[in-house]
This record gives sequence, C-alpha cells and structure tokens, in this order.
Amino acid sequence: YSEEEKTEDYLFKIVLIGDSAVGKSNLLARFARDEFYPNSKSTIGVEFQTQKMDINGKEIKAQIWDTAGQERFRAVTSAYYRGAVGALLVYDISRRQTFESIGRWLNELHTHSDMNVVTILVGNKSDLKDAREVSTAEGKALAEAQGLFFMETSALDSSNVSSAFQTVVKEIYNILS
Ligand code: GDP
Ligand code: MG
Repeated sequence: YSEEEKTEDYLFKIVLIGDSAVGKSNLLARFARDEFYPNSKSTIGVEFQTQKMDINGKEIKAQIWDTAGQERFRAVTSAYYRGAVGALLVYDISRRQTFESIGRWLNELHTHSDMNVVTILVGNKSDLKDAREVSTAEGKALAEAQGLFFMETSALDSSNVSSAFQTVVKEIYNILS
C-alpha cells in the first residue's frame, strides 16, 4: 500500500487529577471498561490504561493515567505529569471543598507540565442533584476564566463521560495535525 495509507500511531498521555474521592478512578473505569464501583477505595487505581479512540477516522491511543490514591497525601510526583498533553481536572459537585482545590491542582499541573496541556474542568457526580453544592454556572465561569473546557459528568449514570475524554483527545489531535 502507499505511504498515505499507512496507519500513523498517535499516543496521547492524559492525566486525571483532583482531590481524593471525586471519582477519578470511576471516570476511567466507566470510560475504558464501562464499569462502576459503588464503594471504591483507592485500591482500584491502576497506573494507566490505554484506550483506543477514533478521531476523524484516525486511530488514537489515549494513555490515561490515574493516581493510586496518593493525592490524599499531596504526593503526586512529577513523573505522573511528565509528558502529559491532556488533563482532566476533576471536582465533585456535591462537595464544595473539592471545587475550591481546583486552583491548587491547576498550579501543580502548570508547575510539572507544559503550559499548553489541553485541560478540561470536570464537575463529576452530576447524578447527585439533591446534594449539589457547586452550580453549573460556577463551574463554567471558572473554566472560562482559566481557559479550560468544561463538562459535568456522572461516572454512575455515564452521562458525558466519553464526551469529556473525547473533548480533550480531539483538541490535542487538532493542535498536532
Ligand atoms: P477518586 O479517589 O477520585 O479516584 O474517586 P473514586 O473513583 O474512587 O470514587 C470515590 C467514591 O465516589 C466511590 O464511592 C464512587 O463509587 C463514588 N463515585 C464516583 N463517581 C461517582 C458519580 O458520578 N456519582 C456518584 N453518585 N458517585 C460516584
Ligand atoms: Mg482513585
């Protein structure tokens, strides 16, 4: 076959960050394996999971990194961020404290990685409507102020989970192609 028909390999490293228990591991479990763990502890954390995606007819591998719970000790290492081209910055819409931590996570991301890392702010647990402590408008406003994409998701009922990962991967692809 001709040179043009050869499949190119794209491998994008994407990191999940945010406070403990916001649902990072479950977002990855839902996206990569369509699974959900109702009472997950940090033990389900894997180092990373590679997910094949189709963007504009191109096969892209998203290598998505999850913490093994070390964010609880503020000990996410620089190795975790090294080479990342995308990030999901996750808070829990039912716990205001996790939204207030976003600034600190953004600083950490910018300290350890390229300023151009494609980042989406993710308000997870959108299914917990009665327990909401952060409005959609507040999430949107923060994202706009910081130049981030924004989406509310639920790893429990699956809403927007694929869209959140796809938004990041598509944008990285657009920048690189
Ligand atoms: P992590 O520490 O950020 O990786 O958070 P986990 O993925 O381990 O989730 C922490 C807890 O929140 C677990 O009990 C999950 O079952 C729960 N959880 C995660 N995502 C959602 C969600 O979208 N909705 C609800 N209701 N619970 C969730
Ligand atoms: Mg986890």
